[in-house]
Amino acid sequence: MRKAIYPGSFDPVTLGHLDIIRRSSKLVDHLIVGVLNNSGKSPLFSVDERVNMLKEVTSDLENVEIISFSGLLVDFARKQQVQTIIRGLRAVTDFEYELAMSQTNRVVAPEVDTIFLNTSLKYAYLSSSMVKEVAMYGGDISKFIPEQVINQVYEKYGIDQKNRKTEGEV
Ligand code: ADP
Repeated sequence: MRKAIYPGSFDPVTLGHLDIIRRSSKLVDHLIVGVLNNSGKSPLFSVDERVNMLKEVTSDLENVEIISFSGLLVDFARKQQVQTIIRGLRAVTDFEYELAMSQTNRVVAPEVDTIFLNTSLKYAYLSSSMVKEVAMYGGDISKFIPEQVINQVYEKYGIDQKNRKTEGEV
């Protein structure tokens, strides 16, 4: 059985993440989305909230499982008996960091390899931090994140329906 882990913070999950999840779920028999529980990063959403959001937006994908982890990614991979890590690449800016991380992981755990999927062009600019920046001021985030989780993001910033801008509004 071919298995892989797609790790990340997913704070919150974006359409770019979902695109990588959908595409990689077709490449393997079982895909684990690993949600990083990183106490140093002070995320907007708790790890449980991030896990639940991912479960909701991937509920139609039968071979996708959402699991949180803390500590080293390669330790998580070993525990899950997975030797393939999937990461998404948006632009050259991602490249240096991702390359260094995958090389470090290979030194620490030589049996674990990283596969990079390039972003779909329409999501190349998209990041969780941009989504948060726009949402914070009530901007329209409907083109950035799955419909099911839009309200949860606005709620974090105390933005109710009447304070939200719609498409084209500034
Ligand atoms: P991390 O904190 O580990 O970078 P993220 O949640 O920001 O976690 O991203 C997880 C993975 O998804 C990373 O490999 C990142 O490059 C990739 N990714 C993020 N946004 C996009 C996007 N718009 N298109 C493709 N890949 C993306």
